[in-house]
Amino acid sequence: MPPETALWNRVEQTAHEVFATFGYGEIRPPIFEPTELFARAVGGETDIVSKEMYSFPDPPQTPMEFVQATLGRIGQEQFALLESDPEKLQDFMRELAELQDVTLVSLRPEATASVCRAYIEHNMQQLPQPVKLYYVGPMFRRERPQKGRYRQFYQIGAEVLGGSDAPAIDAEVIEMLMTYFDKVGLHGATLYINSIGHNADNCRRGYVAQLRTALEKVKDKLGPDSQRRIDTNPLRVLDSKLESEQAIIATLPHIADHLCDDCKAHYAAVKRQLEIRGVLYEENWRLVRGLDYYMRTTFEITAPGLGSQNAVCGGGRYDGLVELLGGPPTKGIGFAIGEDRLILSLQESGKGQKGQGRDVYIAWMGEHAYAAAIHAAKDLRKAGLSVELPPVEQKFGKALGQADKLGAKYALILGDNEVSEGLWTLKTLSTGEQEKFPEPELIEFLRQQKNVSSYL
Ligand code: AMP
Repeated sequence: MPPETALWNRVEQTAHEVFATFGYGEIRPPIFEPTELFARAVGGETDIVSKEMYSFPDPPQTPMEFVQATLGRIGQEQFALLESDPEKLQDFMRELAELQDVTLVSLRPEATASVCRAYIEHNMQQLPQPVKLYYVGPMFRRERPQKGRYRQFYQIGAEVLGGSDAPAIDAEVIEMLMTYFDKVGLHGATLYINSIGHNADNCRRGYVAQLRTALEKVKDKLGPDSQRRIDTNPLRVLDSKLESEQAIIATLPHIADHLCDDCKAHYAAVKRQLEIRGVLYEENWRLVRGLDYYMRTTFEITAPGLGSQNAVCGGGRYDGLVELLGGPPTKGIGFAIGEDRLILSLQESGKGQKGQGRDVYIAWMGEHAYAAAIHAAKDLRKAGLSVELPPVEQKFGKALGQADKLGAKYALILGDNEVSEGLWTLKTLSTGEQEKFPEPELIEFLRQQKNVSSYL
């Protein structure tokens, strides 16, 4: 709502401007896609796909109708059971859809998969490489809502797709992000980086096996979520924020000691490149990211004033993703900024918009004055000033009170006398000072105040 939307617009406008200076073009992917796209790209074992997606059969049916149409009647009780377990329902719907050749669609939980699909579908590999794209828009995840975590939230993200995985590309993506945060006025942001290697026995796969063994040994001391992840996705245990698990996690092996030579060299070069660009970073060996497609460089940015949900941006390299989705071998890297959290952090630090305000409130009384007021409003608005012209006549006292409430800078006082004398009164509301001007000079004075007179 206003006045907050003005801040949203400024944050988005700054993204358009900064990203353009790095040669990025905007892409507008669809709000929903076949569920299969996200299942393949994001990964079936991730929380996002297994229980947080809003999925629907297409043509639309309620889950109950869908189940009945495909399987015949099942009991209410049995269905209630399914409904209370979103993970099972999601699996079940996907199985049914496959069996019955029905398309399942999902509201997008993220946009990288869609950008990669677009790259393939529109043969972007034939364009000059790398292709640099960014997007702004809503994402949907059925998470437990709390401060900084919503079911419809907004991301500003960018992707670089092409033939090269040069470390300079990683560093420039991160440099662009930090430039953006600086421009938008976010202070106190911390950049964390890590490398999670690539999926091979002599690299991440070997590390994951060792990590799993180490985790099995301390399994009893871990909570149920981490215990489950030992089997499904041991790297995610490193993400845990549970206080009771921190001391145990600190004893686990580090991935940096298990990277293959190529990944090690790539990581070292990314760090060097960041240093050349003057980008400050901290290394965090526990930064693994929640999505399956990441490899090598991963990064996250935290901001103050957000409580536990303090990540404002996450990103990383995902070289195999385009190929996984049926495209040519392609390297890729990208990030997504959580716009809601960025806004929250800006507001917490006093960078939010104070109020919409008005430049001028026209307090008019009398029929002649009204006609003059309408013309004055037209002229002032044309000059770019924000003008409030009350639709019905008010006593001056009431009008001035209203102007105050709206946060107007000036009240233009126009009664029939002023009009016949040709001398209009301008009141500066913050000081209470009043001055009389002939009409043309008054309009000119206000225009100059707005600093737009020169080109009008
Ligand atoms: P991800 O796509 O999970 O890597 O998230 C990237 C960024 O999006 C995070 O760092 C958050 O700032 C933001 N984000 C993710 N999920 C949510 C959510 N449910 N509500 C608000 N922001 C979110």
